[in-house]
Amino acid sequence: MVFNPAIEQLPLPELRKLQNARLKHQVAYVYARVPFYRQKLDALGIHPSSFKGLEDLPKLGFTKKTDFRDNYPFGLFAVPETEVARLHCSSGTTGKATVVGYTAEDLGVFAEVVARSLAAAGCRPGMKLQNAYGYGLFTGGLGIHYGAEKLGLTVIPVSGGGTDRQLQLLQDFRPEILCATPSYAQVLAEEIQRRGIAHEAINLQYAALGAEPWTETIRQQVESGLGVQATNIYGLSEIMGPGVSQEDVNERGTGSYIWEDHFYPEVVDKDTGESVAEGELGVLVFTTLTKKAMPILRYWTNDITNIYYDKAGSRTHVKMGPIRGRSDDMLIIRGVNFFHTQVEDLLSGLAQVSPYYLVTVSRRGSMDEVEVHVEVSQELMRELGLSTVTEETIARHECLQTLRDALAKKIKDNIGLSMQVILLGFGELPRSEGGKLNRIKDLRNLA
Ligand code: ADP
Repeated sequence: MVFNPAIEQLPLPELRKLQNARLKHQVAYVYARVPFYRQKLDALGIHPSSFKGLEDLPKLGFTKKTDFRDNYPFGLFAVPETEVARLHCSSGTTGKATVVGYTAEDLGVFAEVVARSLAAAGCRPGMKLQNAYGYGLFTGGLGIHYGAEKLGLTVIPVSGGGTDRQLQLLQDFRPEILCATPSYAQVLAEEIQRRGIAHEAINLQYAALGAEPWTETIRQQVESGLGVQATNIYGLSEIMGPGVSQEDVNERGTGSYIWEDHFYPEVVDKDTGESVAEGELGVLVFTTLTKKAMPILRYWTNDITNIYYDKAGSRTHVKMGPIRGRSDDMLIIRGVNFFHTQVEDLLSGLAQVSPYYLVTVSRRGSMDEVEVHVEVSQELMRELGLSTVTEETIARHECLQTLRDALAKKIKDNIGLSMQVILLGFGELPRSEGGKLNRIKDLRNLA
């Protein structure tokens, strides 16, 4: 369902006109109200009166995470504190949390873009949504909550974690939609299977999953485990929260629509900062077009992806591909650039392993050593009659040695790096406790 056809299907020339007018206004607005931006624009010799709009946007430089920290807590606000209706923080996955603020009008836009997103995910008014995103300073819980209410859904505000209760509510209240991080949806799917809960006992049809990178492998696991059609929802606190972009349930795998009437996207080269061609990978950069409390010009998200128009799509807005990783978690191992999601792609479709993995990087002397920890699948463990997997069990089972060697070869052939594969028993790697799951451990700077 298209929540707001007038905007979501606005012909591109008109969308550009709208963006252009909004951008000019946003630049004049921050210049007048935020000393950080006034100084920055003055230093660049840019004055709002001569700023031409989208064509001049690349001249504005970037806003980076450090600018939020340097102006902690309220230095980037464009309104008096009394006009700020809500404060949130980013979850601080990569360092100290950053503070973000919203006026009542901003919260209205937030609810609108989340309502659009949930409608694209398959939700229709009258359905029930179990919200397993964390409530609190994290934007996920409350962000989804108010958008769901705006769309006319019944919200079950359960928050993240508490798997027993999540499963109970799924059976008792029978919601059609689940919102969660993909890693937590995996946990729920796995627990449903482990506890032998029948598909008919729950009524889920759709899942909108986001807040961390995920791949088609996880999509398949969640879709079959929960009996849903799972779509990607993307967002970040600095720009708004969840609902900056969303995949349409009938266009799964072709990218997520960015609601570009509010969030203007660019993709730039991570080294030069120059725009890349449509469809090319680079760092995603956002400019807010309508934010009142904390407008942001050209925020360097650190997220690596591409953007492109899909003429066959149901909406006119630009799409973004899946996030390949953050440029700050792109590992450079012996000179080769590498994201952990590449390992995940290689594990997909291998029946002998579970979809869980952990990549650890350490340094021995001057050499980077990479270990990939992978779980043997539940089925294979059962077949071999194993309760754990140790060096000794591997020595006893030739098929495990073959599996380990085949995986190491696959990684070497596809990624171009030698990694040591460590096989573990099913269930030994950490699972999501309701929030984001870290699949990489870089121990190199801890030595
Ligand atoms: P933090 O940056 O501290 O994790 P946020 O909670 O604001 O704070 O998280 C935003 C980040 O989460 C994004 O910049 C992106 O890296 C990641 N993210 C959010 N949604 C998705 C998604 N659907 N796919 C991949 N990554 C996502």
